[in-house]
Amino acid sequence: MTASSAAAIVEAVRLLARRGLNQGASGNVSVRSEAGLLITPSGVGAEALTTEQLVPMGLDGAWSGRWKPSSEWRFHRDIYAARPEAQAVVHCHSPAATALAVLGRPLPAFHYMVAIAGGADVRCAPYATFGSQELSDAALAALEGRRACLLGHHGMIAIGRDLAQALDVAVEVEYLADLYLRLLPLGEPPVLPAAEMEVVLEKFKGYGTNAQSS
Ligand code: 13P
Ligand code: ZN
Repeated sequence: MTASSAAAIVEAVRLLARRGLNQGASGNVSVRSEAGLLITPSGVGAEALTTEQLVPMGLDGAWSGRWKPSSEWRFHRDIYAARPEAQAVVHCHSPAATALAVLGRPLPAFHYMVAIAGGADVRCAPYATFGSQELSDAALAALEGRRACLLGHHGMIAIGRDLAQALDVAVEVEYLADLYLRLLPLGEPPVLPAAEMEVVLEKFKGYGTNAQSS
């Protein structure tokens, strides 16, 4: 493991807790490594987490050390195997995204920022038991062509070309889900036309190039 990616994971877990996207031991974070991935340990909350507890894993699922990897290592591993551009994976039980996921509803193109997740919607994967291969398979299908998905009765996943992007996507999807939930009692919100979302997606390709990192 590199010291910088380990420190970045711990910082990411703390940020998710600070921003109210996770609480207790829920959620998990990983980054791609030379050997496979480096992932948070199972059942450790943000305050107690240290870099020494992070678990190096191979893409074959083999892991070493004293700490058990996150129970969701399967979908983290499967994302790195299937998505060469993914360098980081964030999973959280943030309130608005999870509320929407309980309803099994995708996030439609009601706001142009939905395109941050890579398409005209954020899909919701059907429910499957946490930690199961069935959940991983459902998540991978919902993530096709996207940087985020909701997980039915569970939470959300965000992926990125680095950890900063995965966090940005998770924070934005939570914001959008919150907005959408405020609108739903007023009736189904209108959505942007597919052609406009194509324009936004194209513009997003060159957006953010002024940033120093990410
Ligand atoms: P872990 O503590 O095992 O990572 O599990 C938390 C979680 O969110 C399960 O879906
Ligand atoms: Zn979870």
